[in-house]
Amino acid sequence: MTADALVDCEGTFATLRQAFPAIHSDVDWWIPVNCALLRSGDTSVLVDTGAGPKPRPFMPDGEARLLDELARRGVSPEDVDVVVHTHLHVDHVGWTGSFPNARYVVHEQDWAYFMSERSLADRPHLREKVLPLERVECVTAETEIAPRIHMQPAPGHTPGHVIVRAEGVAAIGDLVAHELQVADPSLFFVNDMDAGVAAATRRRVVAELAADGTRVIAGHFRGIGRFEPAGKGFRWAVE
Ligand SMILES: [Zn+2]
Ligand SMILES: [Zn+2]
Repeated sequence: MTADALVDCEGTFATLRQAFPAIHSDVDWWIPVNCALLRSGDTSVLVDTGAGPKPRPFMPDGEARLLDELARRGVSPEDVDVVVHTHLHVDHVGWTGSFPNARYVVHEQDWAYFMSERSLADRPHLREKVLPLERVECVTAETEIAPRIHMQPAPGHTPGHVIVRAEGVAAIGDLVAHELQVADPSLFFVNDMDAGVAAATRRRVVAELAADGTRVIAGHFRGIGRFEPAGKGFRWAVE
């Protein structure tokens, strides 16, 4: 099993205060947009597909380099067997459709919410990238999506948000969006669709990952790290 954190692009879309109203700072929140590559035996699993190539609606300026990052690791688009979407936000589906041999795995509740007619009317990126997919597998509960690679529901940020776990590594999408939420898992992020469920899931899953010493790849943290207990919350220890 190997795990890589791949940066598709970097940029900002909000100040800290705009993203986390309890944080009184007008500093721009600068984030990488990450994907995770998990390889087990002959199987290559890509978790999320970044913000995608230009032109794009979200963080329009930064060059997107997911396909270059995969190529640097010897992985062509044809080599990707499975794409798992932790959720269907715009910064997680950007290169979706670029992997001709992949089956795509999404939680049923994200599919139901984001792919409804009403949602698609407001989300051209889903109409263009996700709607045309032919091999979509919707799952509802913990599922082994490739040998020794599991997806687990972790709802709250979106209704069907999931994390992906594989032998000591977890790709967690936007379960935690900022290190401030590691220190205080109750900290509200404006893009969390159900604040209460998101906070409860965050506290439970971060505690589990910390207890196991699991290596973590998050959607918007730099590199690979671990969660460690600290005070009433946790801290992010990057490798
Ligand atoms: Zn998100
Ligand atoms: Zn995100």
